[in-house]
Amino acid sequence: MEFRYSMPTEIYFGEDAVLKNKEVFSSIGKKALVVTGRRSAKMNGSYDDVKQALSETGTDHILFDEVEENPSLETIEKGSEIGKKNLVDFVIGIGGGSPMDAAKAIALFIKNPEINKENIFSAGKLESIPVVAVPTTSGTGSEVTQYSIITSFKEKTKKNLGQSIFPKAAFVDCKYTYNLPENVTVNTAIDAFTHLTEGYLNTNSTYMSEIFGEKGFELFKHCFVKLVKKDFSKEFREKVMLASVMGGIQIAQTGTSLPHGMGYPLTYFKGLPHGLANGVLTIEYLKSFRDQRKINRMLRILGYDTLEELEDVFNQLIDIKVDITEEEIIDYSEQFISNKGKLKNHPEEITFKDIVRIYSKSLLNK
Ligand code: NAP
Ligand code: ZN
Repeated sequence: MEFRYSMPTEIYFGEDAVLKNKEVFSSIGKKALVVTGRRSAKMNGSYDDVKQALSETGTDHILFDEVEENPSLETIEKGSEIGKKNLVDFVIGIGGGSPMDAAKAIALFIKNPEINKENIFSAGKLESIPVVAVPTTSGTGSEVTQYSIITSFKEKTKKNLGQSIFPKAAFVDCKYTYNLPENVTVNTAIDAFTHLTEGYLNTNSTYMSEIFGEKGFELFKHCFVKLVKKDFSKEFREKVMLASVMGGIQIAQTGTSLPHGMGYPLTYFKGLPHGLANGVLTIEYLKSFRDQRKINRMLRILGYDTLEELEDVFNQLIDIKVDITEEEIIDYSEQFISNKGKLKNHPEEITFKDIVRIYSKSLLNK
């Protein structure tokens, strides 16, 4: 057996993780740029906790609260200018994947003043100033991954920045998700599940990464029942947050696969939230495997006998009609088939026709 495993992020999981471990902030830096979305961090208690932890440890901060969903390179430039002007020495991202990914990118731009939206994708490997992540959705796992997914208007797509920016510390407290709206709860949980499946069924999966996948599926056995019933107890919130962290740790080792790569145009052109964009493709992706043995192993852990049982759950959770034409599907498929990075993560040979089929069966005549 051979594998390489690395998880450099220090994870603090549990109730009041931020305040109980406040000294971590002052050990990382003296002045932070706090990066959030426009509203939610101020309403769910996460920003208050971080503010208190910073003030009790004598750590300064300034706030950049303008991160939109699927953050753009323009927003990254704006946030990093504020960080540079204020001489911050670390960045704290609070929120869903969008503010956490933005925080990572901003930290990179601050460390490298010559980098901008025009040259970032050809820049080679760069370092960032330290990042701390506080998730407030249970979905992306960005708090434990090296990825930063950013929207490029120039390239008309979302893409990974292509750098490795692991947060130094992640404070994971599911209380911030107690009032997460029903639709965001479902979409982000589906995202976490797709990380677990795409990491598990990945060319790069190893004995170590699969431990996180399988533990995540065990948690989803409970979570799917609750998601269908919309029964979002504290126990559910904790389990789905844990599953999201598991998914993140797993894709940090393996990368994602077809649904993530194929989902980007559905978000960019059709406005589908990230989790839904992957989720809507997941069942046909699973059906496309010629070798179903590993999928059967996953289904058994989830407590299902057949893929149809999982499909039934997905049908209850995802109820959308995407307005899309066959020509658009051909366009997206052509774009995707040139994404060699994602293709090589899929363990079986896959053709242009297979990609068109997954899109078509998932999206047409629904
Ligand atoms: P998001 O785009 O961060 O947030 C979605 C919405 O939820 C926003 O309106 C946000 O409001 C709101 N929200 C967040 N937390 C809330 C809370 N506790 N209570 C109420 N509302 C809340 O959604 P996301 O699905 O977490 O992140 C998606 C992004 O992450 C995508 O760009 C995706 O590509 C990326 N992603 C990254 C990775 C990675 O490894 N780096 C993995 C998967 C996905 P505010 O705007 O007011 O905060
Ligand atoms: Zn995702």
